[in-house]
Amino acid sequence: MSRALKFYDLLNRLPFATSFRSKVVFAVVVSVLLPVMAMEIFFILFSTLKGPELEQAILISGVAAATAAVFAYWALSTILKPILCTSRQLNQFLNEKVLPDLPVHYRDEVGSLMSNVNYITRSMKDLIESANQDGAIDHLTGIYNRRSAENRLKDSIELTRIRQNALSFAILDIDNFKTLNDTYGHDFGDAVLRQTGDLLRTNVRRTDWVGRWGGDEFVIAFQGGESEASAMLSRICELAGRELFIAPDQSVHKITFSCGVCEWQEAMDSQFLFTKADEALYAAKRGGRDQVQVWSEYARLV
Ligand code: GH3
Ligand code: MG
Repeated sequence: MSRALKFYDLLNRLPFATSFRSKVVFAVVVSVLLPVMAMEIFFILFSTLKGPELEQAILISGVAAATAAVFAYWALSTILKPILCTSRQLNQFLNEKVLPDLPVHYRDEVGSLMSNVNYITRSMKDLIESANQDGAIDHLTGIYNRRSAENRLKDSIELTRIRQNALSFAILDIDNFKTLNDTYGHDFGDAVLRQTGDLLRTNVRRTDWVGRWGGDEFVIAFQGGESEASAMLSRICELAGRELFIAPDQSVHKITFSCGVCEWQEAMDSQFLFTKADEALYAAKRGGRDQVQVWSEYARLV
């Protein structure tokens, strides 16, 4: 158990602090009422105040303590309300499959918790639906998902072998995507991925195909050799550079890709072809991002 929860665990063992509300009451009593009671006992037993003066001191400190206790109880309950609300909506999702609709405009940790709960439950629902409907399509972008891209790559290799023509396989990874996600939230990250999927799908030839490998990684299979594929990739990167992505705060963003491409050679299976394109992609990342690396050229240098 995390150290941060040790005190909470201790609190949980108290027989009168089993619910969230009773813990709040306990905190208010200990932090506000007990010190005042101790002060009043001190007044009665040890102070020089006598008669009406003593009564007045006890009355004033009593009223002040009661007011402070009411305010502390109200403030703590208000601060804890978003957590109770999140917990209630999560239970509703688990039991009745009702999607949470939590506010996402709070800028603190609780706001982040609420927006993550909204995001995760929606993703889970989409995942379940896409698994039930069509296992071939990525639910977010509408292009091939990893499983079907793997199958299509095997088919493409087989066809290329039979037809004796050329095939090139490319991996494209969005540069610094995590920063966009972390700064503007997962919903905006999703919108960027969706727009990127559209951009790729609409800018490849009918003979080529596009898939989402996972996260911010996309793949394209080009009919043709590596120099042809590399030229088409550069054109796609140029188009991506002109595409505008509008964040929730209306700020405008652009993306770049790092790409690795490898031409299929006889005796390469799909896994080997992927690994070589991936090596070229990492060379592109290492080379400073926003560029296309061709595996055969990279391999010549290492
Ligand atoms: P690099 O330039 O090295 O690629 O850096 P990067 O910031 O793009 O880092 P990386 O590619 O490793 O990060 C991918 C991020 O994509 C990490 C993960 O949080 C995020 N991600 C993965 N799947 C999804 C998704 O379905 N939606 C959203 N919004 N984010 C996702
Ligand atoms: Mg990336």
